[in-house]
Amino acid sequence: MRPISYSRVSDVGTAIGTVAADPESAFLAGGTTQVDLLRIYVEQPRRLVDINDLPLNQIEELPDGGLRLGGLARMSDVAEQPAVARRYPVVTEALVLGASPQLRHMGTLGGNLLQRVRCSYFRDTEAPCNKRAPGTGCSALDGVNRGHAVLGTSDCCIATHPSDLAVALVALDAVVRTEGPGGSRGIPIDDFYLLPGQTPEREHPLSHGELITGIDLPALPVAATSRYIKIRDRESYEFALASVAVAMSVAGGRIAEIRLALGGVATKPWRARAAEQVLDGAPATVESFTRAAEAELAGAVPHGMNAFKIELARRTMVRALTAMAQREETA
Ligand SMILES: Cc1cc2nc3c(=O)[nH]c(=O)nc-3n(C[C@H](O)[C@H](O)[C@H](O)COP(=O)(O)OP(=O)(O)OC[C@H]3O[C@@H](n4cnc5c(N)ncnc54)[C@H](O)[C@@H]3O)c2cc1C
Ligand code: SF4
Repeated sequence: MRPISYSRVSDVGTAIGTVAADPESAFLAGGTTQVDLLRIYVEQPRRLVDINDLPLNQIEELPDGGLRLGGLARMSDVAEQPAVARRYPVVTEALVLGASPQLRHMGTLGGNLLQRVRCSYFRDTEAPCNKRAPGTGCSALDGVNRGHAVLGTSDCCIATHPSDLAVALVALDAVVRTEGPGGSRGIPIDDFYLLPGQTPEREHPLSHGELITGIDLPALPVAATSRYIKIRDRESYEFALASVAVAMSVAGGRIAEIRLALGGVATKPWRARAAEQVLDGAPATVESFTRAAEAELAGAVPHGMNAFKIELARRTMVRALTAMAQREETA
């Protein structure tokens, strides 16, 4: 048993200062990841700083026509916002398809972006795991890896990034707003997530004590025609085996604008740039969609049990793009 001190703060400066001053401290938001990992000794902070009272749960209009979602806004509150559903349906759908209603009532946007991987070896303190204990090895490489990644992997880690929301945000080029000991900054979401490479313990560029204050959704007309499709083992609640976030517009039967990202198959929320390149200006047909999916997955690397994900991702991409094209046709 390890003692943990707990404090509840009501201003951003105190929250940052308290965590930054103690390397063994951590922010506590909804607690749906944090408390889970404390219980199984995967995370062992000696101090928890509860940030639920910080005034960071608003949804605000940005001067350029975008929307700022507060870092402490609850997943369920954001999913119920008409402005988000109308202008960024892919965000609403990704939130609604993530976790269970109870978890969404507690889970915050900042916490969702920083949730940890669901690899069973990461959660088992007896198992070698480079992410939890750098240099010990990766048990999943030759282990039970059905849920693991086929894109963005390294010989050090093949864990899949678990967030649905992050996949939608990557497709939209959202920006993560932070405030920390070194001041405030905006980090493009694609740069926010790091590939595992040889340092899988480093998942993002935040410094200790740096707080996610918000997420900026850019003004993006194509985002109004977007959606999120998620394939999982059970419908009630489960992490993605494969998912697709897509925003697309079609003019004269050709793809005028396309934004595409994949979840459930990669070590970070995966912007499908190779597929976008194939689709840009191409006829909005199943043939184009299939070529695009194949281009994106050409570099996929299977690891035994997860080989099926390559075909699953391909089919999910074609399905999502076909559904978007049909919707555009009838609009
Ligand atoms: C059974 C189960 C099923 C789930 N299924 C899904 C799913 O299908 N899809 C999905 O996307 N998610 C899923 N989740 C994950 C869930 O969405 C996250 O646990 C939740 O969003 C985390 O938010 P939180 O506020 O509870 O974070 P916390 O648990 O409080 O914090 C998580 C981490 O983020 C840090 N943190 C929190 N807020 C901030 C901030 N503002 N700035 C800096 N650091 C911060 C904390 O210090 C901690 O390290 C599931 C979780 C469970 C338990
Ligand atoms: S896949 Fe990553 S998280 Fe899982 S055991 Fe290997 S190093 Fe650890």
